[in-house]
Amino acid sequence: MAAIYPTILMIEDEEHIRRFLRHSLESQDFRLIESATGAEGLTLAASHHPDVILLDLGLPDMDGLEVLQRCRSWNTTPIIILSARGKDQDKIHALEIGADDYLTKPFSVGELTARIKVALRHSNRPNAASIETVFKSGSLMVDMQEHRVTLNDQPVHLTPTEFKLLAILVRKAGRLVTWKELLGDIWGPTGGDSTHYLRIYISQLRHKLEENPARPRYLITEAGVGYRLNVD
Ligand code: CA
Repeated sequence: MAAIYPTILMIEDEEHIRRFLRHSLESQDFRLIESATGAEGLTLAASHHPDVILLDLGLPDMDGLEVLQRCRSWNTTPIIILSARGKDQDKIHALEIGADDYLTKPFSVGELTARIKVALRHSNRPNAASIETVFKSGSLMVDMQEHRVTLNDQPVHLTPTEFKLLAILVRKAGRLVTWKELLGDIWGPTGGDSTHYLRIYISQLRHKLEENPARPRYLITEAGVGYRLNVD
């Protein structure tokens, strides 16, 4: 289990961002350790065993992606990328080489805190078997074992593929799931580039699960990257 005060390692070279995040996160009972360089960050990650790592990509001594890669070679601590690079390819690459989430600067503290909490929840679950079998968010309920979905206590009928897609998002609730992951999990390695199939299935799911499919509350699009199932 995480400590009562989870420790966050922030690897970020900009002093004013560190100061701002330190104040905001410490006021929410997180413990902060900080590094302005990638090399020191890696050392602190090894010596302090943080619960979550916040990692800037533009660091003075090495690329944040290299820090990510080196970290991942020995450590499974959730890593949230904080970056001014808003390009989809950067996000996808970071997620593919092991980042758990990605926030583009500027972001709100509320958003960051929510992502940190999701990351902590997931890291406290050592394996899939410990995931609750019933997922609830707002008026949506998904029973993973019974393959049952209800909205406002009314049963919703989903096709097998729709359920499969929803189940993947439920298992990673609150986290960003890339197109590639979704395609691979649903259609296998041959799923390839069929992102338009995903769009169709997501649209069908939204029509069944969202009050207003044009302004989804649960099935959130992460532009250019994938989807995220909102946790209430
Ligand atoms: Ca920077």
